[in-house]
Amino acid sequence: MSKPKVALYWAAACGGCDVAVLDTNEKILDIANLVDIVLWPIALDFKYHHIEAMEDGAIDLCLFNGAIRNSEQEKIAKLLRAKSKVMVAFGSCACFGGIPALGNLTNRAEIFERVYVEAQSDDNPNKTYPQTSTKVSEGELELPELYDTVSTLAQVVDVEYFLPGCPPPVDLILKLVDLYATGKLPPPGAVVASEKTCCDECDRVKEEKKITKIWRPHEIIPDPKKCLLEQGIICCGPATRAGCGMRCVKANMPCRGCFGPPAGVTDQGAKLVSAIASIYQADSEAEIAKMLEEIVDPAGTFYRFGLADSMLKRKRMQTTQGRV
Ligand code: SF4
Ligand code: SF4
Ligand code: SF4
Repeated sequence: MSKPKVALYWAAACGGCDVAVLDTNEKILDIANLVDIVLWPIALDFKYHHIEAMEDGAIDLCLFNGAIRNSEQEKIAKLLRAKSKVMVAFGSCACFGGIPALGNLTNRAEIFERVYVEAQSDDNPNKTYPQTSTKVSEGELELPELYDTVSTLAQVVDVEYFLPGCPPPVDLILKLVDLYATGKLPPPGAVVASEKTCCDECDRVKEEKKITKIWRPHEIIPDPKKCLLEQGIICCGPATRAGCGMRCVKANMPCRGCFGPPAGVTDQGAKLVSAIASIYQADSEAEIAKMLEEIVDPAGTFYRFGLADSMLKRKRMQTTQGRV
């Protein structure tokens, strides 16, 4: 009997999600024995035309990590969708846009200006920018078009399952493989994690305390037994889906929200703003202004992993493409 065909792909990603697959250690050998890997750009030398030559639906499972931020990534997402029976948004970038989606606070023109003209190491007086097509003596060279707006995978193609995490933890990767191998996958649309919030699973003492100052993690050494938010450190636990094993909080660091919003919450940032507002003691406009001053990088704090998936999606500004 032929083995199930599996594709792994990375789009706008850092490579950490692929490394997380390798972090399954010796279990990767079991996985490799169970399945036939047909695409894995970070590890194996398959070409896109190998995938294009397949029948639609020929791939059984596609683990797609990374957000969509250029035309090549969109094209391959659509190709893999057509060829795959089951599409999994693998990791926070694919699920919610992730760190790359913080690029939605700007646009392509500003990014090109910063990267190719203003950066301290640039020497580009004629302002030469990357072109999607360039003629050279050997022929025509093509580059993907960079989009103004970063999208989640599900904003571009239909997705059956979501495996969050930056990167997804090994136990959840193995759980997904096991659910698949045993034919026990949940109904499409499911998130392979917990239905609870990180706060629900946190064993730190909560005292219903108000706070009057926000601290950045490096400014104080928090009590390892008490709620970080009640010590004035912004912890995304109230607005984040559980399932990671509380990796950061157990290391005395605040949750940064990489598992995305919990069940029933559509906007993780708005939920976190509401949680902080309910705990911060401010009796005057001056005190509210002080609190806002203390939150360094509000967009990066409230939408670190989920800007593309949020109700805001991006900053309103002039863009060159109709993808806002
Ligand atoms: S989810 Fe995290 S680990 Fe995975 S590609 Fe994105 S930034 Fe990297
Ligand atoms: S805010 Fe953070 S530290 Fe406090 S209970 Fe929730 S997860 Fe735990
Ligand atoms: S504690 Fe929060 S940021 Fe850390 S791994 Fe878990 S969900 Fe992600």
